[in-house]
Formats: sequence, structure tokens, C-alpha cells
Amino acid sequence: MLMAMQSIQNYALQSNNSFNIKTSCSHIYFPSNLAELQQLPDLTVEPFYILGEGSNTLFVEESAPIIIQPKFHGITVEEQAEYYLVTVGAAENWHELVCFCLTKGINGLENLALIPGSVGAAPVQNIGAYGVEFADFCEEVQWFEFASKTLHALTKKDCDFAYRDSIFKQSHYNKGLITQVTFKFPKAWQPNLSYAGLDTLSVASTATEVMNQVIALRSSKLPDPKVLANAGSFFKNPVVSVEEFITIQAKFENIPHYPQANGEIKLAAGWLIDQAGLKGFRHDNVGVHQQQALVLVNYGSDFGADIISLAKYVQRVVVEKFSVTLIPEVRMISHLGEQAFTALNDTHPIGKLSHD
Ligand SMILES: Cc1cc2nc3c(=O)[nH]c(=O)nc-3n(C[C@H](O)[C@H](O)[C@H](O)COP(=O)(O)OP(=O)(O)OC[C@H]3O[C@@H](n4cnc5c(N)ncnc54)[C@H](O)[C@@H]3O)c2cc1C
Repeated sequence: MLMAMQSIQNYALQSNNSFNIKTSCSHIYFPSNLAELQQLPDLTVEPFYILGEGSNTLFVEESAPIIIQPKFHGITVEEQAEYYLVTVGAAENWHELVCFCLTKGINGLENLALIPGSVGAAPVQNIGAYGVEFADFCEEVQWFEFASKTLHALTKKDCDFAYRDSIFKQSHYNKGLITQVTFKFPKAWQPNLSYAGLDTLSVASTATEVMNQVIALRSSKLPDPKVLANAGSFFKNPVVSVEEFITIQAKFENIPHYPQANGEIKLAAGWLIDQAGLKGFRHDNVGVHQQQALVLVNYGSDFGADIISLAKYVQRVVVEKFSVTLIPEVRMISHLGEQAFTALNDTHPIGKLSHD
């Protein structure tokens, strides 16, 4: 007998997003196997959003579209002579996976400790931190295509990973969902200590020592969403052409910059916001975090529109100072589904503030 997929009507989502925004959806579906995925409603008719743990999501209205929250669980480990293959359900928690691997003696993910969210969301923006990114250990992503109702095995190459980007934000966007991920971890391991803050560790450090250092560094800089609602880095680090960079550097000699393989230059969005004088800025219930200017925080607003207004203000002040447009990393969701930042109205008083 075919079991019905779990679904709930009129579902409140405030505890399902790390910005703690009050919103609800008419239906939420929790598919946990292929048969249940095949029972999903026709997603070409109504707007929808695939939700993991909501730690990179900003709901901008009191109503949200139909929500699909995959519930694929489980971790299996296959040991080969020179590497481990670890296959993980999309609904598993990322940090718990990192801890699980390290306790089994499987090293590699230690630099990515304490990143909030689900395993299924990790490939979408190719999560990264402390010199390591998801793509470094990705072997295969299993993806369910809505149109054909079938599963596809995508190799790392198929996924087209780049900085905070992948095929799931491009050609495969909204055409399916990730059900599980397979990682490949070579047994030959050495710590990746290239990143500032880890370079004080000895090259003989164990993976657990590296993880503990990453946890200490992150905890000292980033607000815990359970204590102060936020979605991590709100904006992506902007990438500019050499010509644009030379113009900016002529005015701001000390600007941190990171040359990219394609010849472009990556800038540090947090530095730009800080230099624009906005670190610690607060207006009513929303603000820019005091230690990490790249993180926008919610001190108690129920409304995603307040965060949008703040983000537009930050973007405007940074453009005025540096002529660089910051692009959000966080996904913005209205009752019509995902929205472009530029399409969202700025109705809150912050948007009307002038900056000197
Ligand atoms: C305090 C804090 C620190 C952070 N630090 C980092 C960091 O260092 N590096 C970094 O890269 N990110 C960081 N983030 C962002 C966030 O942790 C990642 O983007 C994470 O992958 C989001 O996981 P999630 O399950 O919460 O995703 P959600 O917010 O639920 O979803 C994010 C996106 O993934 C899609 N998605 C989710 N699940 C699936 C699925 N199964 N199939 C297809 N699409 C799916 C959603 O539709 C959406 O587009 C941070 C966030 C916070 C709050």
C-alpha cells in the first residue's frame, strides 16, 4: 500500500528560519522517499520554496508560498583502500555531519564546522569557510527532477560549483530538489591551515584540534542565531574588474583584496560596510552586527521587510562610498516564491534615512 506523504496546512514558519520572521504557508510537504516525492503536487501551478533549516532564507511577507521540506535522513560510510565514501540524506544537519565524520576518524570537513543548515542546502551555494568549500569533497549529488519525477546522479563536474554558486542556482533552479549527497574523503590528510586564525596551529594538529579552533573563532565573531536572529553573511563578497579595483584602491589604499583565477578581484563586503561606518548600526529592531559588519541581525522584528529596508540602506551607503554594489547571498521569499532583491519595495523608515 502506498503511504501518504506527511503534509500540514496553514503552517507557521517562525521557528523554521534563523531570522525569526513571522510568516506562514498554506501547505508544507515533507517528502522522505522517492514514492513521496512522486506524490508532490504539480509545482508549475503555484509558487513554492524548498526549505532546509532556513538559515540562508529571509521571508519578506507574512505569507509564504507552498513549502517543501525534504526529510531524507541517514548516513552510510563505505571504506575503500585510499578513501571513504560518505552518503548523507539531505535533511541531516551539517555540523552534526562534521562531528560524526571526525569521531569516525574521517577528516576533511573540520574547517566547515558550525556552519548552520542542512546537508541538502550545502551544494546549492557551495558553502565555504576557512579556505575550504563543499565542492572540495563532493563526489555526487542525488537530485529529484520534478518534471520527469525521477532521480538523477550528478557528478561534482555536473554541479558546476563556483564561489557561492552551483547548477542548483542556475539551470536546475526550481526544477527539482536534492535528496542526498555523497562525499569522498581521501585517507591521506593534512590540515588546511592557510586561513587567518588557523595559521597559528601546528602542522601536526589533528582534525579535531582544527575543528575546535574553527568553532572558537566562529563563536567569537558570529552571533548564534538562537540568541540573536541572523542568516550569517547577508551579502556576497563583491568581485570587480582590475580597472574598477584600481580606481577604488587609488582612494582607499588599504582595501583588502583577493585576486581570482580569472583575473578579477574579490573584495571583502564586511570591510566595505565597516569602512562605510555601519558596523553596529541599529534602527529599531534591526541592525548591523557589532563584531561582524557582514551580518545583519534581527533584535525582535516579526517582519522581513524591516531587514530588506536595512539591507537596501547598507547597499546604498556602500555604493555612495565605494561605487560597489553589494549583492545579497541570502534568499528572499515572498508569497510568490523567491524574489530578486531589486524587485522588493523599501517601505520602512530606514530606507529614507540619510547618511553622513
Ligand atoms: C550564523 C551563520 C553563519 C553562516 N556561515 C556560513 C559560512 O561560513 N559559509 C557559508 O557558505 N554559509 C554560511 N551561512 C549560511 C547557511 O548556513 C548556508 O547557506 C546553509 O547551507 C543553509 O542551509 P539551510 O538548510 O538552512 O538552507 P535554507 O536557508 O533552508 O535554504 C537555502 C537555499 O537552499 C535551497 N535548498 C535547501 N534545501 C534544499 C534541497 N534539499 N534541495 C534543493 N535546494 C535546497 C533553498 O531553496 C534555498 O535556496 C551561515 C548562516 C548563519 C545563520
